[in-house]
Amino acid sequence: MRVLVIEDEVRLAATLRDLLEMDGYTVDVCHDGESGLDNALSAIYDVILLDVMLPKLDGFTVLRRLRASGDSTPVLMLTARSEVSDKVQGLDCGADYYLTKPFEPRELLACVRALIRRQPELRTGDGTLTCGDLRLDKNTFSLICGERSVRLSRKEFDMMELLMLNQKQVLTKETLLLKIWGYESEAEDNNVEVYISFLRRKLEHLHSQVKIRTIRMVGYCLEIPE
Ligand code: CA
Repeated sequence: MRVLVIEDEVRLAATLRDLLEMDGYTVDVCHDGESGLDNALSAIYDVILLDVMLPKLDGFTVLRRLRASGDSTPVLMLTARSEVSDKVQGLDCGADYYLTKPFEPRELLACVRALIRRQPELRTGDGTLTCGDLRLDKNTFSLICGERSVRLSRKEFDMMELLMLNQKQVLTKETLLLKIWGYESEAEDNNVEVYISFLRRKLEHLHSQVKIRTIRMVGYCLEIPE
């Protein structure tokens, strides 16, 4: 799961990053509205934390432009202001939730989880994802099939999670690359192929009926027998 934090207070942004990373999220931070909007438009995020008072573009404008582009990524607005008019304006612009600073870390994490849960969900209550004969366990980073199980590396886990969450769709290499390695990274298409082959080996080891299919020139999807 990838979170974008758009917050110009550098210390607060760093605290948010630490907090979210400790909870297992991958985090990108932007310190102004313009670069924040650019990143947000990539549509690779599961949740966006958006401050209101920002240099270059304020949070309301960022949100309006993001929604105008057709993007519906859940947005949690953060602000020091607590006036009702701000909340109304934020919600009118398309924010999903509004949190007033200072907030409790636990409250913030609960909001993020709630926003992620709102998306079409295949997860069971304990954070396990299922698909065909497979179960992906977030707590132990393991992939389970019947009696067998294997541990996944962080990147393998992220990739398997994306494939399982989008099991009816073909994921392009570009999407996988951006969602897993992010914008700043030097990773190339080749990385995706390497990790797909790691995962295929693990699926074989598990004797799973689920396969990762390559759609030539497009990307990958899961093949799940009825
Ligand atoms: Ca600010």
